[in-house]
Amino acid sequence: MADYIAFDNAQALNYIEQLGEFFEPNAQLTCNEFGDGNLNLVFRIADQNGNSIILKQALPYARCVGESWPLTLDRARIEASVLEKHGLVCEQHTAKVLHTNNDLAVTVLEDLGHMAILRGELNQAKTFTRLGTDVATYLATSSFYHSDFYLEPAEKKALVQEFTNPELCSITEELFFDDPYRTSERNNYPAELEADAQRLQQSPQLLRQVAQLKSLFFSAPQSLLHGDVHTGSIFVDQNSTKLIDPEFGFFGPIGFDLGSFIGNLLLNYCAQNGRIKETPKRRQMQSYLLTQIQLCLNDFESIWLTLAAQHTRDLALQAPGYAQQFIEQIIQDALGYAGTELIRRTIGLAHVVDIDGIEDDSTRLQVQKQTLLLGEQLILHAEECENKESAYQLIVSLVQ
Ligand code: ADP
Ligand code: MG
Repeated sequence: MADYIAFDNAQALNYIEQLGEFFEPNAQLTCNEFGDGNLNLVFRIADQNGNSIILKQALPYARCVGESWPLTLDRARIEASVLEKHGLVCEQHTAKVLHTNNDLAVTVLEDLGHMAILRGELNQAKTFTRLGTDVATYLATSSFYHSDFYLEPAEKKALVQEFTNPELCSITEELFFDDPYRTSERNNYPAELEADAQRLQQSPQLLRQVAQLKSLFFSAPQSLLHGDVHTGSIFVDQNSTKLIDPEFGFFGPIGFDLGSFIGNLLLNYCAQNGRIKETPKRRQMQSYLLTQIQLCLNDFESIWLTLAAQHTRDLALQAPGYAQQFIEQIIQDALGYAGTELIRRTIGLAHVVDIDGIEDDSTRLQVQKQTLLLGEQLILHAEECENKESAYQLIVSLVQ
């Protein structure tokens, strides 16, 4: 990585000009760093005619914390490679990579600025009818084609090595499965939540289930995950849905991505109790979110099973009923991971603006108590759900 320097606007612009690939030779280019993410630099380079591209660059540390939290530049390679792999099998829902430079930790991407980040849209009670189906399509397609059902064993094992991502995985391992369940300096919650946090931290049954979810995260290279499917990693408009930012990608348990997505819709569901004052409007938004969860579960299963029926290469995995059994386990896992997302976003280090943006302290506190209880109950009862219908019924019973 001898070449690495972190770009400023002028250097990013110069880099794109030197490449000479994306704009007319005499284009008048401007460059602006506008990233609102936690970890990286994001520049938009545009010409005078409204054509533009995005240059994303990893820093050798986490942007939100500073140089005291060093972080591997290799995450840029992982992110671009996951986008490329997922783009090959699900082009319509994956941000397009236009160029990469691993030494500079640079990825050039299509500019999705005509779309909007889902989290902000949900917080304004905007709805997107394709959301659940589109995310299910992305998750089912990308996970099927990178699983042992489809890949040759040697190819799969080579990919597992290529996508070994220990530093970023360790962030997930600690923030999802460790910190919220013990005293940690990184935890972040008001004193009024101490009793709720203590309840979680002192429940042996809950701690065992969280241990099982962490163990699976450690040791189940089922497929190439995105690794960070929160609503800030999804661009939407009324016609399409695109995933960005898979720098946490690795071969892991398929239910983790599905659960992260469901967990984020449920965080928004709970947050709406403190956001939308008028009951009919609030109910409408919450019913929309539940419908998207249901669509996502149904479509995830049906797309996966169709792909498995048509394209399973492994002979043993073709056993009648096995794909169904596999997906039922994925859905159980997803409920558990959704629970850990609800909990860690409430008392752990990284929160969501859905909840933190609620101005009134006591309203916000009520929402936080609800997300903790919902997360806890999902983790405790996930294993009772035998299929997608009972998974959805569990969610409905817990939020109403
Ligand atoms: P980080 O890894 O730092 O979280 P993200 O990939 O989430 O970075 O990007 C941070 C922000 O940059 C996004 O919220 C979005 O506003 C913008 N952004 C990222 N990728 C694109 C893109 N391809 N097109 C338009 N804007 C983008
Ligand atoms: Mg991000």
